[in-house]
Amino acid sequence: MYDFAIIGGGIIGLSTGMAMSLRYPNARIVVLEKESSWANHQTGNNSGVIHSGIYYKPGSFKAKFCREGSRSMVEFCQKHGIDYEVCGKVIVATENKELLLLENLYKRGLENGLSVTKLSAKEVEEIEPHVRCLAGIQVTTTGIVDYKQVCLKYADLIRSQGGELRLNTKVEKISKAGALQVLETNNGTFETRFVINCAGLHSDRIAKLGQVNPQAKIVPFRGEYYELKPEKRYLVKTLIYPVPNPDFPFLGVHFTRMIDGSVHAGPNAVLSLKREGYKKTDFDLRDFMEVMTYPGFWKLAAKHADEGIQEMIRSFSKAAFVHSLQKLIPEVQASDLIPTHAGVRAQALMNDGNLVDDFLIVQGGNSVHVCNAPSPAATSSIEIGKAIVEQIPSQPHLQAVVSV
Ligand SMILES: Cc1cc2nc3c(=O)[nH]c(=O)nc-3n(C[C@H](O)[C@H](O)[C@H](O)COP(=O)(O)OP(=O)(O)OC[C@H]3O[C@@H](n4cnc5c(N)ncnc54)[C@H](O)[C@@H]3O)c2cc1C
Repeated sequence: MYDFAIIGGGIIGLSTGMAMSLRYPNARIVVLEKESSWANHQTGNNSGVIHSGIYYKPGSFKAKFCREGSRSMVEFCQKHGIDYEVCGKVIVATENKELLLLENLYKRGLENGLSVTKLSAKEVEEIEPHVRCLAGIQVTTTGIVDYKQVCLKYADLIRSQGGELRLNTKVEKISKAGALQVLETNNGTFETRFVINCAGLHSDRIAKLGQVNPQAKIVPFRGEYYELKPEKRYLVKTLIYPVPNPDFPFLGVHFTRMIDGSVHAGPNAVLSLKREGYKKTDFDLRDFMEVMTYPGFWKLAAKHADEGIQEMIRSFSKAAFVHSLQKLIPEVQASDLIPTHAGVRAQALMNDGNLVDDFLIVQGGNSVHVCNAPSPAATSSIEIGKAIVEQIPSQPHLQAVVSV
């Protein structure tokens, strides 16, 4: 019998387990993960950026947790010897119509308490010699890290505090037995006083298994990447982003130097026909039908038809993908790029066709459900974990350590 069972061994489930084991050192905690290793889905297939928090609406959870989370992530990496680099990034306007949006982003960065600098085209070239643009801004606090390494350390810390970690354990059913909840899995039954749902791409389904309304449906958006050939890595020194469309939750294809020295270009954002569909041909009838029969999806599609079509074209045509990248670095050529991994984002969509903009954590009876944790949730993971622990009602039978 457990005090807390966490469903999902991505960065949010593991950060929550870590925060929980520090807050309640005597609690019996278990993390249940359906895959055979940690961080196999969103967390293990992302861009590896420690975001600064420039994009997010001031006062939102994203803005707060990202700003605080980027600091706590860097401190965590320093403390535990995980490779990271605070290399900074540039966001550049390449067309006149983007200049006002760039100015707005600059102001937003200041409102969010960040150190942001305006750059002329020449100043951008001093940082990124191969970029051609009209103007840019620099955020110096952006960094890079391998989030899988971060997760392995979170898992070590849970284990060293006495928590249990179960791989190959898929939660299939949740029922009640008095004050306890019973989690039936393919690998045994687990009784627990409290459930924390951090199931990422499946978080809405797990919430429903626990009789909780997730308030939105998860719609999977695949992000495909190319990698620059090693002999072309010199084209990118740090991280180079376009000015994003403020009505769209994705940042536009960009160049990212990874912590292993490789340079990735992407990700785009196309509807995936399978929640864990990493290839263009992946298809799952249930996943597909759920999206197609959801009124919110059609309202979203009507609103963003142009962007959606552009993203599809960019997915199927390398020339179109390269064309977007050439707006940032004109000398990059199709022959410089090789396809690499893809990731699938779990984005919550409401019935009215609006994407859930902020992180969304829903309370149930003796349960908490993380129903929307897209980017920058990896950056913010330590803060999200702590916030989830704060939301758990006091547990009189457990001794709590107040300051963690
Ligand atoms: C392409 C891409 C690029 C991104 N880039 C960045 C970035 O640079 N910086 C950043 O901060 N964020 C980035 N993000 C966002 C970030 O990766 C996610 O917000 C974060 O990883 C979410 O973590 P999670 O633990 O909620 O989900 P996940 O990592 O998906 O973990 C959920 C886990 O739950 C498990 N699970 C699901 N159902 C069950 C079940 N029934 N039983 C047991 N286990 C179950 C899954 O197997 C999975 O391991 C990016 C995301 C993507 C997809």
